Amino acid sequence: MAEENRNQQAQPNPERKTLDDRAKMTELERIRHSCAHVTATAILRLWPDAQFAYGPPVENGFYYDLECSHRISPEDFEKIEAEMKKEIKANNTFEKLVVTREQAIADASTGRLGGLGERPSNASKFKLDLLQQIPEGEPISYFKNGDFIDLCAGPHVMRTGNIGAFKLTSVAAAYYKGDEKGPQLQRIYGTAFKNKTALDEYFKMIEEAKRRDHRKIGAEMGLFAIDTEFVGPGMPLWLPKGTVLVEELEKLAKETEFAAGYVRVRTPHLAKEKMYKTSGHLPYYAESMFPKMEMDEHRADRKEIEQRIAELEKQLSDHAKKAGSPASGNP
Ligand SMILES: [Zn+2]
Repeated sequence: MAEENRNQQAQPNPERKTLDDRAKMTELERIRHSCAHVTATAILRLWPDAQFAYGPPVENGFYYDLECSHRISPEDFEKIEAEMKKEIKANNTFEKLVVTREQAIADASTGRLGGLGERPSNASKFKLDLLQQIPEGEPISYFKNGDFIDLCAGPHVMRTGNIGAFKLTSVAAAYYKGDEKGPQLQRIYGTAFKNKTALDEYFKMIEEAKRRDHRKIGAEMGLFAIDTEFVGPGMPLWLPKGTVLVEELEKLAKETEFAAGYVRVRTPHLAKEKMYKTSGHLPYYAESMFPKMEMDEHRADRKEIEQRIAELEKQLSDHAKKAGSPASGNP
């Protein structure tokens, strides 16, 4: 493919990691990214037409974006996980293969990349696109585990068996490269850990966090109510019991400040634009600030204009009356 053609087709991918970013991947990220390869392997065994796009590690696990004739739902997780377990048990090595750009294009064209074998009528279209984003001079590599070959720069764990414990967590819709004009894909999320203890701890922590959610506890204890319809989320309406707590906290704050020699001042909740420019908020945080309000002085201006218009209208109508009356003289 001509260089020129390549540049025209390849849209930048905001999710693409540089080789430097990749070198910094932690052991846990390597486990999780490797688990994304294993997830793809399992999905292909169940639905061989699946086309994979991008499968990075993320904060609490990993995901892999794919296009597939079957719409994956959480009910499928058990059988996908069963296939994943087989791949992990097989303890296949993640074998790195460095190839030429021509070879990679040829393999993508026959559907081999992101596949368990060649799929002549089903080219690896996303891999072909991702291939075009690899800068000239950067090595092109595959990683192979069992029959699954993926276009990938790594790094991974040594063998599939190094993925200690994993779980698929959810599936959602995602646009290819986050572009809403692009194809819509299925994004399957999962997480993986070094061992089952760490995995169990993670899910226990999530359960605990749900159980201890202050929004839930606060409502149950009758401290506050949140009315999303009339007020808004994150804006508690303090009930009598909660108000006692708020006031006690304020009292403690005042006493502590007083003891430390502070004196209190009071400022308005709002200020003019100029103040937020001086403070440096407006140039950087305008998007996360409340929108500007029209203040009374502008209303006063408007009132003045409205009064002036009313006066002019009265003059006009007076003038018209005088002009229409035969008895009237010159003003
Ligand atoms: Zn990889």
